[in-house]
Parts: sequence; C-alpha cells; structure tokens
Amino acid sequence: MSGSNTPSSESLEPRKSSASGAATADCDVLIVGAGLVGATLALRLRDSGLSVGLLDKGVLRAPSDSAEPATQHQSFDPRVVALTAQSQQLLERIGVWSKLMQTRHCPYTQMRVWEQDGTGEVEFDAEEIHEPSLGSIIENSLIVDALHTRLAECLREQAQDQAPDQKRARAKWLTLFMGRGVSELEHTQEAGRPLSRLHCDDGSTVSARLIIAADGGNSRLRDLAGFETREWDYGQKAIVTTIRTREMHDRTALQRFLTTGPLAFLPLAESAEIPQGRHCSIVWSADDARADELMACTDQAFNSQLSHAMEGAFGGVEWSDTRHVFPLRQRHAKHYVQGNVVLVGDAAHTIHPLAGQGVNLGMLDVVALAEELEAGAEARRRPEDPLVLRRYQRRRIGPNLAMMGLMEGFKRGFSEQPIAVRWLRNVGLHSVNRVAALRKALARKALGI
Ligand SMILES: Cc1cc2nc3c(=O)[nH]c(=O)nc-3n(C[C@H](O)[C@H](O)[C@H](O)COP(=O)(O)OP(=O)(O)OC[C@H]3O[C@@H](n4cnc5c(N)ncnc54)[C@H](O)[C@@H]3O)c2cc1C
Repeated sequence: MSGSNTPSSESLEPRKSSASGAATADCDVLIVGAGLVGATLALRLRDSGLSVGLLDKGVLRAPSDSAEPATQHQSFDPRVVALTAQSQQLLERIGVWSKLMQTRHCPYTQMRVWEQDGTGEVEFDAEEIHEPSLGSIIENSLIVDALHTRLAECLREQAQDQAPDQKRARAKWLTLFMGRGVSELEHTQEAGRPLSRLHCDDGSTVSARLIIAADGGNSRLRDLAGFETREWDYGQKAIVTTIRTREMHDRTALQRFLTTGPLAFLPLAESAEIPQGRHCSIVWSADDARADELMACTDQAFNSQLSHAMEGAFGGVEWSDTRHVFPLRQRHAKHYVQGNVVLVGDAAHTIHPLAGQGVNLGMLDVVALAEELEAGAEARRRPEDPLVLRRYQRRRIGPNLAMMGLMEGFKRGFSEQPIAVRWLRNVGLHSVNRVAALRKALARKALGI
C-alpha cells in the first residue's frame, strides 16, 4: 500500500513460542496482504470462528478512533475500479459499502463500446435491464481506506468483547501485523498438523495453520511457496491518469478499441471539492512503443492525442493529471493451493484491465474461499484440510481461466488487421447492438447479476 496515513496502534504482537521452543500458531489463518482482496477476506471471515491474522508491509490506513473513512482526498486517485453488483453485495455484507457511499463514487448508467476500424458499436443502458446503474466506479485508495476503517472499528468492538467485565468474552477473531514485509517462509509441524512460519523483514515471525497469499500480482509469498505460473507479456503498457473534459460525462463509460490497444474513459463522481461531473479516469492500453511515445508527450500534445483517439467524446480533453504507466502481463498460477498455502486475488491471477474485472474476480475468490472454510468448520474440518482447500480451487480456477481467455480473445480480436477479421468484428458489434436480448444479457453478465 502506498500513501499510508497512521500507523496501527492496535497491532498486536504475535504469541511467543513455548518455553520448550516448540512452535505454537499465532492464528489459524494468516492473510498476507491487506489490499482490496486481503482486507475484504479478513472482514468476511469475522464470524467463521477462526482466528485470523492480517499482515501487510504497509500500515493501517485508518484513524484509530473514528468510524469514518480516513480521507477525503482533494485530487482523484489515478487507480479506480468498476465494482460489479456481486462485489457490492460482498462489501455490503462486511459493513463497508455504506462507508463507500459516503465517499466519492460514480454509479454509471450507460456504456458505449466501439472500434477504430469500422462502424461497429454497442450501447448498454442500465434502464434497459431495470437496474439503477451498470456498476460503480470508485477510486482504489478510497476502497482501501474504507476497508481499513472497518478493520479498525472491528478491532475496537473486539477489545470491548474481550474486556474483563464482559460476562462471556468472545474468542479473539482478528490480529493485525502491519508494517512488516514477508521475507522467508518456513514449514514445520505441530502435533502432527502443518504449521507455517513467516519471517518478516523487521526480524519478527508469525505462524499459522493456513497461509493465504493476497499480496498482489508480484506475490513474494507465491514465489516463496514455489507455485508455478503461466505468464506472458501482452507487449502493452497501460497509461492511467485523471482527465477533465469540456462537456459533462453524464455518467457514461466509454471504451474504444484502437488497433494499438483499448482506451477507456471511466466517469468520476462529482463532489463538493471537485464538482461538475467532467472528470474521468482513463486507462489507455497501448503497444509498448506507442505507450512510450505517449508518456514522453507534453500535456498539451497528450490531451490532443487523447481527444483524437476518443473521437472528441465529451467535447474533448482540456486537462490531464500526472500520467502513470504499468506494464501489462497476464499471469495465472497453475494451482491455487499448495500444502497449507492458498492464493487469492492478483496473487493467483492478473488479467488485462480492458474489462475492469481484476478486483471483481478477486472478490469472487474471497466469497468462495470463505464459504469453503465455513463449510469445512461446520463439518469439523481444519482450515488447512486439503479437501476444504481443493474445493475452493475447483470453484475458482475454471471461471478465472474463462474470464482470462475472454479478455485475451478481445485483446487479440480487436488488434487483428485482416479484412475478414475486421468485417466479423463489425458484424459482431452491430448484431449485439441490434439484438436487445443479447445486449441485455451481456450487460447483466458484466454487472455480475
Ligand atoms: C492499469 C490498471 C487498471 C486496472 N483497472 C481495474 C478496474 O477497472 N477494475 C478492476 O476490477 N481491476 C482493475 N485493475 C486490477 C486491480 O487493480 C487488481 O486486480 C487489484 O488491485 C488486486 O487486488 P489485490 O488485493 O489482489 O492486490 P493488491 O491491490 O496489489 O494488494 C496487495 C497488498 O499486499 C501487500 N504486499 C505486497 N507484497 C507484500 C509483502 N512482501 N509483504 C507484506 N505485504 C505485501 C501490499 O502492500 C498490498 O496492500 C487494474 C489494474 C491495472 C494495472
């Protein structure tokens, strides 16, 4: 996590090993990574009956004495996500959605998709599928702030539950291990059960029965545990920034497939600090050479090329913020479970951002893993039980691979130049746009309903 605010005053120290030197677990489940996926999973496991540790190299991004999200940033975070209805339901369940609704968010009601080479175009409309919106666009940092604020709130409730004057103290659910990065992983046994110990860069260790890697695309834990991955470069980079257009966006998202890669305008919310509804977050995925060229442009030249690439949509671009660039890499772990280590979120799969599905797939991993751990606990199975973990893997590996395949198909399909492929694309987009049932089915699929 970057841009951290306050250190966690409520981080609790791990239990020490016993006097004989034998290992004891600090928690049943240790989640490494308190980003969008890891923090959500920790909160989702609140009533699982498991003791959960959450470890991150960053600090808790929440005030320790307030239930309100930490910040109302003056400027927009360049990284945003479009959350589907399923992700929204999960955030509602863990008590975070209402906090997000108090911060900037943009429920978008229309989406237009078209391509550079041809006349094919599809328009999606929330009204047509009788939904209030097609999804909500929210800045990454605001979601992490809201998750961490909820974690801090839960820690305070937990401390009250465990106070000496409580008649029946509840078992401790959550321990935070913030401000420490993972450096080594050691596997051992205790009373015939697997136990893993993480060595952190500050010299501390934390041990657990089950270790969950939610430490992002470049997961150190995945590498330490020896997971094999299939990965390749797209040969593209994504440029992300915030822009202001001359006209209002009317809560419409745009995606245009250029021959050098897709370009998306994601409408941002108006707020007291930033009124008007003329700001969008953009993700411009472009072949490496073109991306380098765009990064080297002056602001004025960039705005003009961007306006041209989006065919002057929303009256053209009048201002753009600092540009950030990410190399695009597809990565998928061959397995999500190895012994007592499990992968979730980007640690298991990273996909092209063209359909904005990365976080949403991670949220579905969270739901599946939490449900399997809970079902296992009901059947008196331990969290590290291979049967429980394999059920999670079976539930998620197929759908994640299918979505990655679809994105790959889109990416390739729209960059192909042969006339026959271009003709097919045009016919395809026109057909989707003409057939209302198909259009509605696609909109519902993207929304996750
Ligand atoms: C340009 C771009 C645009 C995108 N747009 C979208 C979009 O519109 N919609 C969407 O759904 N997705 C989008 N994504 C993908 C999305 O950002 C990721 O899927 C999401 O951030 C993954 O969440 P995560 O929690 O798995 O990992 P991360 O968000 O990367 O969190 C990982 C956490 O682990 C911690 N960590 C890392 N290493 C260690 C360590 N060694 N020790 C301890 N802690 C560690 C980090 O501090 C961090 O808190 C986009 C991605 C890119 C690159």
